[in-house]
Amino acid sequence: MTSIRIVGLQKKFGDLAALSDVNLDIREGEFFTLLGPSGCGKTTLLRTIAGFYRQDHGDIYLGNELVNNVPAYKRNTGMVFQNYAVFPHMTVYENVAYGLKVRKFSKKEIDDKVKAALKNVHLTGYEDRTPDKLSGGQQQRVGLARAMAIEPRVLLFDEPLSNLDAKLRVEMREEIRDVQKKLGITAIYVTHDQEEALVISDRIAVVNLGRIQQVGAPWEIYKNPVNLFVATLVGKINTMEIELKENLGKGLRRAVAGQLSFTVPSHGTEGKSEAILAFRPEDIQEVSQRKAGQEKGENENQLSGLVDSVSFLGSTASITARIQGTSIILDRHCPKEDEIPLTGSSIHIFVPNDACLLFDKQTGVRLGYGGKQ
Ligand code: ATP
Repeated sequence: MTSIRIVGLQKKFGDLAALSDVNLDIREGEFFTLLGPSGCGKTTLLRTIAGFYRQDHGDIYLGNELVNNVPAYKRNTGMVFQNYAVFPHMTVYENVAYGLKVRKFSKKEIDDKVKAALKNVHLTGYEDRTPDKLSGGQQQRVGLARAMAIEPRVLLFDEPLSNLDAKLRVEMREEIRDVQKKLGITAIYVTHDQEEALVISDRIAVVNLGRIQQVGAPWEIYKNPVNLFVATLVGKINTMEIELKENLGKGLRRAVAGQLSFTVPSHGTEGKSEAILAFRPEDIQEVSQRKAGQEKGENENQLSGLVDSVSFLGSTASITARIQGTSIILDRHCPKEDEIPLTGSSIHIFVPNDACLLFDKQTGVRLGYGGKQ
């Protein structure tokens, strides 16, 4: 069931189009993330849904209700901000009770709801503290409890974790998701952190320059990007300009990038002589590890070069290899110390055809895109 529907939304600030033709269907109980670089329009979209901004064109439905003319305080949305926005002069209890008092709940109802909300965010026992005696993470929990206490039809999160340190961010994002799933409230979450978006979301909308680029489950966005912008925003990816040469049959085409030669999927490349080739570091195989492929006689896309640099990341090492003048990054699983390669050592890699994504050189649109939107 659709919880929030956005149709043809446009918003300008002077001449600047902050949102252009935004269309979204967000499902009941979904954890939906708006992901994009700074200034792409995420906050504007969130604030327009909340009713803090008025769109120039388009419609917003919360449930079945068209809310274009409904003021923010009557939309029944709960907002969690980046800077916590807790009232410094109020105790934790008073902060969480605030929205309930404004809505004129009885004292008993307020007490029940505040206690339940504080329990959900693990702050039982902190009722009488003031925010200056809480850590950043605890203050953000108060912000979350306050937003949840009013039982909103949607929870709106505007980069709620960006002021927290890395470890706390990871803990808090799991807590936020757990509480949201437990209560079944639809959530819209704004972030520019692609890892956070992949971990926390049911679905992600990637935004650039006020336009939605792609909507999909994290896996879909990562593995099946519709354009080069999405491919490079989410995760690491190798990219290089290629010249497209002759068809090799069986859905393959030869391609050349400087001194490197590849076979790439031909689907969508008809009539084109150039493109951008992209492949993920984890899809690259080292030839020595690839016994099965060699047995099949596959020798296309095998490249040799030298290890340029190595970053140890715990369970994997990120290797930058210099291969005939081109830098290629790849991941190697390193369970033992002697599996971490040495700078300057030789490396032989294999890029499977089906890991090769091709994009139009001018528009960045994916060639042969076969995914669902
Ligand atoms: P960030 O991640 O940095 O918060 P964002 O994706 O949330 O960025 P928005 O805050 O929505 O981006 O801004 C979108 C564009 O609209 C930006 O170019 C911004 O400068 C502009 N903008 C936002 N709010 C206003 C405003 N009140 N008046 C004028 N321009 C604005």
